[in-house]
Amino acid sequence: GRLVGATAEGEELAAEAALRPKDLTEFVGQPKVREQLDLVLRAARARGGTADHVLLSGAPGLGKTTLSLIIAAEMGAPIRITSGPAIQHAGDLAAILSSLTEGEVLFLDEIHRMSRPAEEMLYMAMEDFRVDVIVGKGPGATAIPLELPPFTLVGATTRAGLLPPPLRDRFGFTGHMEFYAPAELERVIQRSARLLEVETTDGGAAEIAGRSRGTPRIANRLLRRVRDYAQVKGDGVVTREAASRALAVFEVDGRGLDRLDRSVLEALLKLFGGGPVGLSTLAVAVGEERETVEEVAEPFLVREGLLARTPRGRVATPAAWEHLGLRPPQGTAA
Ligand code: ADP
Repeated sequence: GRLVGATAEGEELAAEAALRPKDLTEFVGQPKVREQLDLVLRAARARGGTADHVLLSGAPGLGKTTLSLIIAAEMGAPIRITSGPAIQHAGDLAAILSSLTEGEVLFLDEIHRMSRPAEEMLYMAMEDFRVDVIVGKGPGATAIPLELPPFTLVGATTRAGLLPPPLRDRFGFTGHMEFYAPAELERVIQRSARLLEVETTDGGAAEIAGRSRGTPRIANRLLRRVRDYAQVKGDGVVTREAASRALAVFEVDGRGLDRLDRSVLEALLKLFGGGPVGLSTLAVAVGEERETVEEVAEPFLVREGLLARTPRGRVATPAAWEHLGLRPPQGTAA
């Protein structure tokens, strides 16, 4: 996978588990969501009841899974982890729901990708703690109501706006997760460095933070690669210089752009004079799938103010020319 991609895969899952904050006080940043959750959980605990359903929205790697584990830990409840794409049939969901124990937390990642029938079953389960299990087919089919123990659904989605309103409305509260400020990422990195027992200077943490795209998952991943470099090529200490050399080796530039991001920008500037150019044309020029360019590279480039999506196509901003050290051709808008 890519070094700066925001989703976790393979061996990384284990590495991540070791770095997860265990309670709200260890969770860095997101002051609003932390305060809101703290209130909801304290109140539920004081009532001796089950916490209200929680929706967490935000980009991959910002800490949604971590927060769901913290919610369960703070409620002293077990947790079940699944995802929208894993639930294709309403029956899959019925099986999970009917096996929940009282107070259990059900974490449903990518909840916007659940199938329609499952979604409708979930409405009733969330509101009335009940599901109708359909037995049989055709005109002879009957719905058998099944009582569920009270549980807490924690749904995660990249954007709350992707959810149909009836589903969104059934959550007691929505936590909007923001990208992290560099200073917050430095704290994430210093905390992870302590857990990994890697000596890290302030400069080293700052250098990694600046290239982490506002995302703790990426910060932790870059820290591990810089640690590898410092271990093999240096004295094991993560300094600014070690970070900068290591990330040059792994082709992550000073702003956190990786090879794909840069090749998209370069094609846009060098082949198409900064655009506008259509997405498909741009994708062919860099030898990637349309979806890869649109979903993997572009969101970050847009967020960084390097690329704009316009009705006429993709356009480079003046900052893009500057970042790649190129001069815009004379007489263009850029
Ligand atoms: P998501 O579910 O949103 O994709 P995760 O909860 O899996 O993100 O977090 C990815 C990694 O980043 C985890 O290893 C976690 O330890 C770390 N992380 C995320 N948010 C924080 C935070 N606020 N403080 C410290 N570490 C964090």
